[in-house]
Amino acid sequence: MRLSRAFNRSLWVFHFNSGSCNGCDIEIVAAITPRYDPERFGVRLVGSPKHADVLLVTGPVTHDMRDRLRRVYDQMAEPKVVMCIGTCGQSGGVFYDSYNLDGPVGDVIPVDVYVPGCAPRPEAIIDGVVKAIAKLERLEGEQG
Ligand code: SF4
Repeated sequence: MRLSRAFNRSLWVFHFNSGSCNGCDIEIVAAITPRYDPERFGVRLVGSPKHADVLLVTGPVTHDMRDRLRRVYDQMAEPKVVMCIGTCGQSGGVFYDSYNLDGPVGDVIPVDVYVPGCAPRPEAIIDGVVKAIAKLERLEGEQG
């Protein structure tokens, strides 16, 4: 993949668990370990959505997490990209039709990149990050 000049800085990522079983979250942790080391490309997790370019969401969005997810999304500066990690956030997955779900994620906030799987492998998550970079490049190019 060829990166344009439009996106010329590190990619900062904020992780939000909207009610996942923790399986997807463990795979995100695996994706940032030294085995893959995405930090050498400037990709790193940050502690505040206000600093982030990308929002990683795991889980099907429980009723209690709906407003929190919306607030976190609203705190991010433009341009921003949302990645939905795992089948639960995409469709409800194994929690589909559960009594306390307000999801899937796409019903609560706009999603740019879906990474399906239960749980997706680290390689699939990193592939999703590459797609997120491409989307951010387009957005930054449009902003000039
Ligand atoms: S997709 Fe699978 S691993 Fe991820 S939160 Fe749902 S049940 Fe857990």
